[in-house]
Amino acid sequence: IIQLYTPLNWFGTYYRMIQSAFVDMESMFDLLTEEKEVKDNVNAGDLLFTEGRIDFKNVCFSYTPGKEILSDVSFSVMPGQTVALVGPSGSGKSTITRLLFRFYDIQSGCILIDGQDISKTYFVLSLLLFMLFESLDVGWHCLTEFARLWISAGVYLRTPPNNRQHVKQNSLRSYIGVVPQDTVLFNDNIRENIRYGRISASDQEVEEAAVAADIHDRILSLPDGYDSEVGERGLKLSGGEKQRVAIARTILKNPRIILLDEATSALDSQTERNIQLSLAKVCANHTTLVVAHRLSTIISSDQILVLHDGRIAEQGRHEELLAMGRLYSAMWLKQQQSPECEISEELGLETQ
Ligand code: ATP
Repeated sequence: IIQLYTPLNWFGTYYRMIQSAFVDMESMFDLLTEEKEVKDNVNAGDLLFTEGRIDFKNVCFSYTPGKEILSDVSFSVMPGQTVALVGPSGSGKSTITRLLFRFYDIQSGCILIDGQDISKTYFVLSLLLFMLFESLDVGWHCLTEFARLWISAGVYLRTPPNNRQHVKQNSLRSYIGVVPQDTVLFNDNIRENIRYGRISASDQEVEEAAVAADIHDRILSLPDGYDSEVGERGLKLSGGEKQRVAIARTILKNPRIILLDEATSALDSQTERNIQLSLAKVCANHTTLVVAHRLSTIISSDQILVLHDGRIAEQGRHEELLAMGRLYSAMWLKQQQSPECEISEELGLETQ
């Protein structure tokens, strides 16, 4: 029995490993076979990236029919600039970044990168809805659909014919790096978790990215250093540490456009400073869109857009918005009084 114990024990361990590998593979295949929400146009081409200018023109969007989340949103981000999105919870900040990454198509308007349309508009659907509502004599819906049609037709006609071809999602996404609010760590070691930013990166490049993201020393303090297992079945990293893993991935990917969704959870001030320093390195000279929950982190942004109820209520630089003495300055004052509060709590507003 004693002689049998070791092989049986090994057999049990390997059985569990193989079983968990199959579960991982199953989830991977589920992800691969999942029907995509958005589809490429048959004549879609690659994005011809030149300088990284972003334009939102009269964008209207809803996740579900009849509940508009973004209404007639227009703004531009010049190449290499940083634009911050602020506003109460539910005002549509993250939705704007999702649309730029084309997780969804929009109902009207257009989204351009270097003048090329990256999102498909439901122009025909709008036309059909307009006709349907008109035949049913539903006044209000009829009016909104007509407004959408009018805006879409105007934007379409003003876009040069060569820029009306949509771009392939894969091509679009290869130019964009995302540092999300909550980073997903895979059940693997931390080296592979960082390498996910660019699969072809060497071990040395992974470590250089970790140094730049200020997570290298923390990794060395883990029991097995870069070989430490993380994720659900390994070590659990804190929110700040996970965000630095996401920054290291983005450094490896070296995208031309960066979308940064600031963590809502409050970090201690030293961690916050470290993260801000590493982010500043990543974002320098890259077109950057930041969803901010703490105004202190976006004072030096080139432009701040204040969203309210899915519309841009105010826009300008920090000093300009303070001088206006409206929504932004009210948020700023409240945040000065209670720095740990997030914007949504401060205003006591919940939109939508
Ligand atoms: P927060 O600061 O809390 O992250 P936000 O300003 O980023 O908020 P969004 O995440 O853009 O807000 O959400 C805007 C609105 O869209 C909210 O009312 C939200 O409930 C709704 N919403 C978000 N995602 C979906 C979805 N997948 N399906 C339906 N509605 C959604």
